[in-house]
Order: sequence, then C-alpha cells, then structure tokens
Amino acid sequence: MSSDVFDVAVIGGGLHGLSAALQLSRAGKRVVVLERAWVGRHASGASAAGVRTLNRDMGELDLALESMEMWHNIGLLVGDDCGFNAHGQICVAEHPDSLSKLEERVSRLRGLGYTHEAIIDARELRRRVPAISPHCIGASIAPDNGAADPHRTLAAFRRSAQAAGVVIREGCDVRRIEQRGQDWSIEMDSAAVTDSALSGSQAHDRAPTSTLVVPFVVNAAGAWSGRIAAMVGDDIPLDTKASMMIVSERLAPMIEPVVSIMGRSLSFKQSDQGTLVIGGGLQGIPDLDAETSAVRMGVLSKGARAATDLFPCVRDIRIVRVWSGLEAKTEDMLPVVGAAVNAPGVFHAFGYSGHGFQLVPVVGAALTDLIVSGSTRRAIGALNAQRLMATPSAEVAA
Ligand SMILES: Cc1cc2nc3c(=O)[nH]c(=O)nc-3n(C[C@H](O)[C@H](O)[C@H](O)COP(=O)(O)OP(=O)(O)OC[C@H]3O[C@@H](n4cnc5c(N)ncnc54)[C@H](O)[C@@H]3O)c2cc1C
Repeated sequence: MSSDVFDVAVIGGGLHGLSAALQLSRAGKRVVVLERAWVGRHASGASAAGVRTLNRDMGELDLALESMEMWHNIGLLVGDDCGFNAHGQICVAEHPDSLSKLEERVSRLRGLGYTHEAIIDARELRRRVPAISPHCIGASIAPDNGAADPHRTLAAFRRSAQAAGVVIREGCDVRRIEQRGQDWSIEMDSAAVTDSALSGSQAHDRAPTSTLVVPFVVNAAGAWSGRIAAMVGDDIPLDTKASMMIVSERLAPMIEPVVSIMGRSLSFKQSDQGTLVIGGGLQGIPDLDAETSAVRMGVLSKGARAATDLFPCVRDIRIVRVWSGLEAKTEDMLPVVGAAVNAPGVFHAFGYSGHGFQLVPVVGAALTDLIVSGSTRRAIGALNAQRLMATPSAEVAA
C-alpha cells in the first residue's frame, strides 16, 4: 500500500505527468501523481500521437531530436513499443512556392549541421506515397519520424510508473498550493470524480487526505497549467487549443508515412487497424471551466477537403468519429519546461501547443535531472517560463 510521504507531487496524469513521475521514481524519488479526472482524460488521450521532428521550431529542435532517439528505444523506458512505427513524416508541396520554402528550410538546417530532413522530388514522393494526388510536386521528409498509438502509450507509461513505485491518485483536483517553509502544501478535492467514474482498481488509489506536503511539485496540468502556475505566483499568459480529429472506417493499407501539406492544416495517416486518422490543428471550441471542448463541423470540413485534395481515392469513405482535445498554447508555440520563476521547488511542463506527444520521454528526463541534480544538459534553454512572463501579449492573455 502507498505511504503518504512523497518527495514529488506531479499535478496532471497525462503523458507528461506520467513520464516525469516514472523517471523521477526510477531516480529514487517517492512520487505521487494527482489527477483531477483519470489518466489520459485530456490531450494525451485525444492525441494523434505523431512522433515528429520535421518542421520543428529551432527553439525545441535539439530537445525533439533527443526525444526521437528515445522513441526509437521506447521499449527500454516503458517495456512496450507503444505502437511506434517509424515510417517517416512527409510535408508535401502543392506549388513551386511551397517547395521553395521547404528547400530553404532544409538548406538552412544543413548549414547548421542538421541532417534529419531532406527534400524528395515528385517521383520519390509517389514511390513512397503511391496514393498521392498527381498535382503534388515534391516534399520534405524526416525518414526516422512516425507515429505511435496514444492509448497503448498511456497504458505503458502508467504501468511502468506504477511498477516503479509511483502512486497515482485519480479523481483528485488540486485547488490550492501554498509555501510552507521549504515545502509546498497542496490542497486537493478528492470528491471531484464520483466513485462510479473510477474502476475498482483505480478506486484504491483515491486520495486519503485533502492536504499533501512535498518539497517538489511538477506542474503538468495541460490546458489548466496556467491556473496551477498562478497558484505559486507565476502569471504565465496562455491560450487554449481545442485541436480536432477525424477518424474513418477501416480501409485496406494505402499509406505508411504521416503526411502533412505545406501551408495548409492537415496531418494524414493510417493506423495499424486501417482507419485513417486526420488532423492537423483545426480548432474546435474550448471550455476550460466545463473541462470539455466542442467540435466545429464547418471547420473540420476544411480538413476533410485538404485530405481529399491530397488523396482523391478517399473522397467517398465513411467517417466514423470526430473529437477535439484541450491543450495549453503559448504565444510562441513553444512549451514551458523548467523551474518556476517565483516558486523554488516547483517545475513547469506544459504549453506544448499541439505537438507535445513527441516530447514526452525527454521532458520527463529533463525534469528528473532538474529535481535530482539541480541542472540538466538537455536543450530546454529556450523553454523557460520567464520568456512569456517578461513580454505578456494582450492577444494571448485575452
Ligand atoms: C487532437 C490532438 C492531436 C494531437 N496530435 C499530436 C501529434 O500528432 N503529435 C504530438 O507531438 N502532439 C500532439 N498533440 C499534443 C499532445 O497530445 C499533447 O502535447 C500532450 O498529450 C500533452 O500531455 P500533457 O500530459 O501535458 O497534458 P494532458 O494529457 O492534457 O494532461 C494534463 C492532465 O492534468 C489534469 N489536471 C488539470 N488540472 C488539474 C488539477 N487542478 N488537479 C489535478 N489534475 C489536473 C487534467 O485532468 C489532465 O488529465 C495533440 C493534441 C490533441 C488534443
């Protein structure tokens, strides 16, 4: 049975919370995960699970490249391949202007010593993606990229974390955090989710007390991380994303890589089960207070249009499900990873702005470095909270 003495409280039972908890526990820390609903309830359970370094911002590229190496060995971390397939990610150009932009990026990367992206011509594009529309003239490619299965990933991280000694408390809503000497006192409402919403084994992990005192806190509360940060004195302007997804009926195998289009919102792939999984950042309507989001069919139709423009053969397939998921978005679309500005012992990991799945293994490792040794060699320099607090944008804060 679990003890109530912990070194680290991780707020948020998404993949980032679980990854940090797992790696901290293996490094010898006693860790509890406090999750308001249930593990994977929000972005991590709604994710398209693309594992991509292609077109990454330079501010997070080195971190993403290290994470990619970890994905290629993900079994070493969580004892399961998480459904990860490295069939490549491809960004298609429909017009000469788009191809020039891709070529410029790849040549800039080469100049800086990066070799993970390359340009392919129309013939090579058709060889790799035979179903692509003939109007596409070339693409950039990151051949070692791919995609995973988000639910299998959640199950693997959860299982490994618990096997490493992490205590997971679901139905546990963090309401207030106060400094108490060198420690942090966390007040929780464990009645937030009714017993009937939790399965029998999960119910064992419900919080026995409403207050917990710990020296270290990890804020991995996803779309609500700004609220947690404000509780410890960090006012970080954040916006909310409600990215939408479309899933089709099962089809015969037609595509292996994940395909996006330069200048349009599309991410297109086929799952191992044969369903097409179509996203790309089209936005629904978020409601943070209700902890939900709504799909906008009119906007989603733009994604369907982009998909059928690129793959005319899917024009008449059936759509079986659509959804949207909540996530925090920063002004510069880069996450916040690192120490809180005004709260010693508190560490932030949020604001992934629609592309945090790929960063899951490495951010957990970076947070572990910071908490266990006080510093990290990992490339989080551009991801500090201060950058957003120093120049708050009225548009983002609105
Ligand atoms: C539709 C969609 C598609 C995506 N596709 C991709 C992709 O292809 N590739 C990619 O790299 N990324 C993708 N992402 C982004 C990626 O899924 C997220 O960046 C990642 O899952 C974030 O994980 P997280 O643990 O930070 O957040 P979450 O999974 O949202 O977890 C945060 C948790 O904190 C809990 N919480 C909040 N407040 C409190 C509180 N007060 N007390 C206790 N618990 C609290 C919430 O209940 C939640 O479970 C996508 C996201 C969405 C929504």
